[in-house]
Amino acid sequence: MYSTSEQRSLVDLSKKYLTEDVFDNQISDLRKILVFHEWKYSIQNDPVISDFEYDSLFRKLEVLEGNNPSLITSDSPTQRVSNELTEDLPSVEHLVPMLSLGNSYNADDLNDFDTQIKKLVNLPEDVDIEYVVEPKFDGGSIALVYENNQFIRGATRGNGTMGEEMTANARTMPSVPLRANFEKYNIKKVELRGEVVIRKDLFEKMNKKRAVEGLTLFANPRNTASGGLRVKDPKDAAKRNLVAFVYQIGVALDTEGNNVLKNQTTHDESIELLGSLGFKIPTIEKKVCRNIQEAIDFCIGWEAKREGYDYEIDGMVVKVNSLELQDKCGFTNHHPRWAIAFKFKAKQASTKLIDVEYQIGKIGSVTPVAKLEPVALAGVTISSVSLHNADFISSKDLRLGDTVLVERAGDVIPYIVKPMDDLRDGSEHKIIFPTHCPSCNNILTRAKNEAAWRCDNVTACQAQVVQRMIFHVSKDAMDIDGFGKSYVERFYEEGWLKDFGDIYNLDYEKISELEGFGERSASKLKLAIEKAKKNPIHRVLHSLSIHHLGKKVSKLLAAEIKKVQDLQNWTEENFTEIKDIGPKVADNVIAFFSKEENITLLNKMESFGVNMFQTENDIPKAIVADALLSGKTILFTGTLTQMGRKEAQRRAEELGAKNISAVSSNLNILVAGEKAGSKLKKATALGTVEILTEQDFIDLLSS
Ligand SMILES: [Zn+2]
Repeated sequence: MYSTSEQRSLVDLSKKYLTEDVFDNQISDLRKILVFHEWKYSIQNDPVISDFEYDSLFRKLEVLEGNNPSLITSDSPTQRVSNELTEDLPSVEHLVPMLSLGNSYNADDLNDFDTQIKKLVNLPEDVDIEYVVEPKFDGGSIALVYENNQFIRGATRGNGTMGEEMTANARTMPSVPLRANFEKYNIKKVELRGEVVIRKDLFEKMNKKRAVEGLTLFANPRNTASGGLRVKDPKDAAKRNLVAFVYQIGVALDTEGNNVLKNQTTHDESIELLGSLGFKIPTIEKKVCRNIQEAIDFCIGWEAKREGYDYEIDGMVVKVNSLELQDKCGFTNHHPRWAIAFKFKAKQASTKLIDVEYQIGKIGSVTPVAKLEPVALAGVTISSVSLHNADFISSKDLRLGDTVLVERAGDVIPYIVKPMDDLRDGSEHKIIFPTHCPSCNNILTRAKNEAAWRCDNVTACQAQVVQRMIFHVSKDAMDIDGFGKSYVERFYEEGWLKDFGDIYNLDYEKISELEGFGERSASKLKLAIEKAKKNPIHRVLHSLSIHHLGKKVSKLLAAEIKKVQDLQNWTEENFTEIKDIGPKVADNVIAFFSKEENITLLNKMESFGVNMFQTENDIPKAIVADALLSGKTILFTGTLTQMGRKEAQRRAEELGAKNISAVSSNLNILVAGEKAGSKLKKATALGTVEILTEQDFIDLLSS
């Protein structure tokens, strides 16, 4: 668009006009400068003057134009935002219809597409076809018409044939040149295709500002962009940070009405031509691929990095690069045969809410779980999602039989966004939260300040006994390798597990005779259980499922006692003297140890060989800690190859570090394993975080 020397002289001129007085005969120079800075800012993302300097040049032009109204031209930067309101957006016909694209979802689909193209153009299977791959922006589609180098009309896609005219709104976008030198290419009239989007970070900023001003928040960048095209007041459109990418020439005509596109040989050349005329085109997001495999790789690569990209994209578009081949492929009624969309896996999907089941937790809390008609979502099939508690259900007004919108973003557990109430036909039913425990029929209660309904029939409620048993053997508690939920349920049904004690007195011969077991798995299980018997007592304490007694408090307590059963004699004061232990935990632990049956249980476990005495592992290594990571916060991200994440966290803790889960200015050390992603990026950007590799961390451990 601008050569280096042109850019340099425009920058020099800008400086001159910023410091000196300007006169009427410099109006066109000023415009040239402002158009250049619009381009640097909105097309190149590389502004060379500050907003303040831009504004003061802009005001100088406004003043000159105000003194000389006859000199105002419609393509002047001052004329982007009109003061006039649009009454209705008139319908206009596109010069050529805007067709939609066929969809593909995986590599196989794209390979089929490639095969299809070769058939259409009579090329043998083993010949490579060149493709251009571009992002499929998720915003509002537009058509821009230029005639005699002037921007004359902008329209939304509409139904593909007719769109809504929104020229006034399109003019407000600095990325839409009001004038472009099409004549240079012998083009008199041209219709361009593009998409209007909003940068994700600017969208967040906009919403924060709206929140401060007490305005309703925009739902998402996509709706804000496509809605911005249709607003009545161009000043509103101008405030939305709309950006127009162009990615296709719909039609280009010379003075005779002939199609000039025929002079181009590839689609990529035609897009680069638009770039050279000052339009915003995909750059790093676009690639000319030598064959379909390269195109597939590029698509998949972008799917992996879409979250980190500035704009919302919901897929990629694969186009045959040669215009001659495009011509041979032609169109169906609905879409071009030479292009296809590669859709990324959906982050949202709708499905039916069939039923609600109620799960009882290990301490009696009742969690409603929605059973859904199975639906594919971002690569996995979802058939049930947690509804958390009764309040969640009533706040969303969920009903049985509702069609619901389910979302899954990044690592987040899928959740129900909302019911689609427009789709209700009256056959839906209210969800009635049970008043009695579905397992033991005990009446449910709800404590003040707690969201959960609870069954307080702790010892006799079967569901709770099983849940506690599952927790007891889990990684977090006694860590009995291979002893999972299904074993617990199976052994419980056999009547072998009445309480935790029974876990340590199983009859392995009987187990080996169970269907699906055999001697090998029985002896493996025995080995794991024998190993767990030697666990430090902080694990034993945690494994008891005492309300509020988590891992951390278990460790604090284990450090203070010689034997688990010692806690029988503890008073509330003994507990609260320990830093970080509050009266709530104290009460619960005291209640547990004051029950004779629980002491009997602990003694039973002990009689089967479970260690009840403080081990070396239960004593904090305070002295060592002071030397190394004491008082530091640490976060592990990415894949650790030499030790598990939990192991690494434990070792860091031993050295006095505190594990935290988010990157913020509070973070001291980030250990980045393989494939570390956004957290590493964020920590690097902060500049205050010490970043270690896994090996650095291991070296630190042994130092
Ligand atoms: Zn119950």
